[in-house]
Amino acid sequence: MNNPTPQRIGLLGGTFDPIHNGHLLVAATVAQECQLDEICFIPTQHTTTKQEQHGANSEDRYAMTLLATINNPHFTVSRVDIERHTTTYTIDTLHDIKKQHPTDHLFFIIGADNFNTFYEWKNYQTIPLLTHLIVVTRPGYALRPCEEIGLARENITFLTIPALDISSTMIRERLHHHQTIHYLVPDPVNAYIQKKGLYVS
Ligand code: ATP
Ligand code: MG
Repeated sequence: MNNPTPQRIGLLGGTFDPIHNGHLLVAATVAQECQLDEICFIPTQHTTTKQEQHGANSEDRYAMTLLATINNPHFTVSRVDIERHTTTYTIDTLHDIKKQHPTDHLFFIIGADNFNTFYEWKNYQTIPLLTHLIVVTRPGYALRPCEEIGLARENITFLTIPALDISSTMIRERLHHHQTIHYLVPDPVNAYIQKKGLYVS
């Protein structure tokens, strides 16, 4: 049997609490600009129970991520972090995904906010050795130079994407204050949030 052609897979990890149109625009733009075959969304496990009190649980975040991506044949959702049942560290995520895709090319996507504090991540200098790093612009976050982060510029692609000033924090706050989130998240995600009464308390 012939080996299948290696796929170019973008990995977008996040709490997705909830997933919003900013995430989807990042994924679609990176897929097109970097000629990726697939974008795999990876909802993280919450790091503390305190966080879960203010946000949705893992299964609800996973369900919303599925609903948000269902119409795009290039978007997939992985349960790899949720099933690990411990605090998510990206280095573990990448090892697990690499085991599942030994011959594919992996690209790890992060926004400017995460890049600026990347040196705080566990084994952060190993991450660009396991995947190619793609850093996208985000409104409100000026990118710090690679030297300050402690990474070599050659291993990183920087991409300017259309600015959508949306965050999950903003969406949770709007829901808490009974404001609409219409046009900030896909309609099925909005419907799921309303049906389950998420983020109101
Ligand atoms: P929270 O406010 O709860 O932190 P968030 O909107 O930052 O939520 P995350 O799940 O933390 O969403 O983000 C997942 C990834 O998507 C991160 O790498 C983040 O930088 C990136 N990202 C999220 N929203 C945007 C946006 N509007 N533009 C660019 N990148 C974004
Ligand atoms: Mg965030």
